[in-house]
Amino acid sequence: MDDRPNRLRIPITDPEAPTSPEEALSVRAVPQEYAYVARLQCTCGAHGRIEVTRQALLAAEGGYMDRLDVRCQACGASYSLFFDVSAVFAQYNRLLNPDEGGAPPE
Ligand SMILES: [Zn+2]
Repeated sequence: MDDRPNRLRIPITDPEAPTSPEEALSVRAVPQEYAYVARLQCTCGAHGRIEVTRQALLAAEGGYMDRLDVRCQACGASYSLFFDVSAVFAQYNRLLNPDEGGAPPE
C-alpha cells in the first residue's frame, strides 16, 4: 500500500508527488486517492485546501489509471495527479469471476 505513512503533508512540488502518468501512485481503492489529496500541501503553503475538480479514468499499459484534476482553494493553482488503479479493477474482476481463484496466472 502506501509506503510513505509518515509523510502526512506532501508538497505538490515534491518530486514524489504523482504529477505525471509515469509517477502514478498505486492504490487499492478509490478513497485512497482522496485521502492522498486531502493531505497534500500546495506550493502556496496551504494544506487541506486541495479540492478535486475532475476525475477521469484512463486506459494505461496493462491496466487503468485515474487522473484527478485538483485545485487549491487558497491560491487557485491547478494540478493533475495520477493514480494507478489497476489493482482496484483486479478486485472487481475477482468479485465478478470468483471461480478464477483471484490470482492472475504468473
Ligand atoms: Zn495554493
